[in-house]
Amino acid sequence: MSARITNREWCCCEGAASELVKDCGHTQSIDFVLVACSGCGKRWMSLYSVFSSSVGYVSLNDNEVARLMQMPEGRQGRRLLEELFDL
Ligand SMILES: [Zn+2]
Repeated sequence: MSARITNREWCCCEGAASELVKDCGHTQSIDFVLVACSGCGKRWMSLYSVFSSSVGYVSLNDNEVARLMQMPEGRQGRRLLEELFDL
């Protein structure tokens, strides 16, 4: 598994909640949900893997957020997730 998604921690505003922005589906047994920090609005990708039963967050830059908000359905969307998260 790539370094990018094995280092997963929420390091945004302390005590803030994550708010659902967009369900980005899943690939390679990992569920991807785009969330926003309730404190500052920063976007994060929430990851959930059924195999490891672990939950975590990966920081996203503006370009990545823009691509995810316009991500295509199905196979092309999964390919985008794999590209962005080095799967
Ligand atoms: Zn924040």
